[in-house]
Amino acid sequence: MTKMRLAIVGAGPAGIYAADLIIKAERDFEVSIDLFDLLPAPYGLVRYGVAPDHPRIKGIIKALYEVLDRGDIRFFGNVQYGKDITLDELKDHYNAVIFATGAIKDATLNIPGVELDGSYGAADFVNWYDAHPDVPRTWPLDAKEIAVIGNGNVALDVARILSKHPQDLLSTDIPENVYQGLLSSPVTDVHVFGRRGPAQVKFTPLELREACAIEGVDTIVYDEDFKYDAGSQDAIDSNNQTRVMVATLEGIRTKEQTGASRRLHLHFFSSPNEILGTDGKVSGLRIERTELDGHGGVVATGEFRDYPVQAVYRAVGYFGSELVEIPFDGKYGVITNQAGRVIDSEGNTVPGVYATGWIKRGPVGLIGHTKSDAMETIACLIEDRNTWWKPVHQDEQSVIDLLKGKNVKFLGWPEWLKVDAAERQLGEDQGRERIKLVDRQDFLSAAFEEN
Ligand SMILES: Cc1cc2nc3c(=O)[nH]c(=O)nc-3n(C[C@H](O)[C@H](O)[C@H](O)COP(=O)(O)OP(=O)(O)OC[C@H]3O[C@@H](n4cnc5c(N)ncnc54)[C@H](O)[C@@H]3O)c2cc1C
Repeated sequence: MTKMRLAIVGAGPAGIYAADLIIKAERDFEVSIDLFDLLPAPYGLVRYGVAPDHPRIKGIIKALYEVLDRGDIRFFGNVQYGKDITLDELKDHYNAVIFATGAIKDATLNIPGVELDGSYGAADFVNWYDAHPDVPRTWPLDAKEIAVIGNGNVALDVARILSKHPQDLLSTDIPENVYQGLLSSPVTDVHVFGRRGPAQVKFTPLELREACAIEGVDTIVYDEDFKYDAGSQDAIDSNNQTRVMVATLEGIRTKEQTGASRRLHLHFFSSPNEILGTDGKVSGLRIERTELDGHGGVVATGEFRDYPVQAVYRAVGYFGSELVEIPFDGKYGVITNQAGRVIDSEGNTVPGVYATGWIKRGPVGLIGHTKSDAMETIACLIEDRNTWWKPVHQDEQSVIDLLKGKNVKFLGWPEWLKVDAAERQLGEDQGRERIKLVDRQDFLSAAFEEN
């Protein structure tokens, strides 16, 4: 039987599911897979995006761990495509590559004032509280009143972490610098603004219910925001998820407030218009009220309101990053592809190059969606076997020699297991399940130092 050597770049859920699926697929060739990630840790946004107080979702890590721990996929952490390994080098060592590089940056929001001190992208804040190794260790938490722009789950995550009392995060894996940062926050009010109405939010029911039930935080909604047109009613009648969400929000309308020291306000029909500043620092958010257009959409009303806030978090979506030598669609932030086959600017298929996950279809959807996505890509890859690359180095050792020759300090699976053990030990020492390591140097020490 011929042996296929497959490189997968990106060890988030999309990359790991793709590896697992090709191993389990019906095929008439053997396959040997190397999974690269620029981070010293696997799991992508499940580790560096999902909020620390979502242990249920973090449980997916266990399933991903089991795939990698089987021993039939090699992990190479701390290896960045485009820097530590190039497309030509991949061609020399593999029959094909799948890019599963996800998204880490914020999408842009073009309103005046985004550049002000105190205006933050949600992704940067998420990277900080999730202990991403490549971001600063401190985060400026000096605002009493904060605006969060967006009506998706990331906006809810950000608003929840900002308003939650930090001691309630001590059961999670947040490191000390994040705990201390949150402890110093004087926040009293977090305002979440969405352009549309309660029947149009992009939240999911579980996340909304959770945000409305934070210990020691009152959730506040406003009567003027509860309007439904025929389009909204259609959505409520036809979509169970919308019905549950509207019922949850209607429930908050009648809920007594407790006089808690922190409040989470959910505003609808409020389109961000300008971030206001004083002396270069955020001092407010101007929104324009919108109203329903009869079909569930909204139109601007010309009525503006200013909210005094000292920080604004923009949670308006993520955006994929371009990869060296790989065709990229700058409008949508994805690798140009059809069903996972990468397509060049003339519309021709690029042999041997595939995409999956958020970098394939854009940064929307839950972790589970990356599995169906990977299935499609893997089916194309198997079908295309006659057009795969013909590598000059087929043996598994040669890529290790290549990386070592370039002085790339990569972590294999056994090294990652040492890091994993070090994080558990750190947690155990403080009566917690795990505390994340943050510095790359700490990862390398845990991975390579003999104990
Ligand atoms: C803030 C936030 C919270 C979320 N919460 C939830 C939730 O609660 N539940 C849920 O189901 N979904 C949640 N999601 C969605 C979920 O995280 C995504 O659906 C999923 O992670 C996408 O998987 P992916 O593998 O395509 O990308 P990613 O998870 O982003 O993985 C991509 C990997 O590629 C690596 N990479 C990138 N560039 C390179 C390169 N040049 N070389 C080598 N490696 C590279 C990255 O380091 C990363 O590890 C959340 C997303 C965000 C942003």
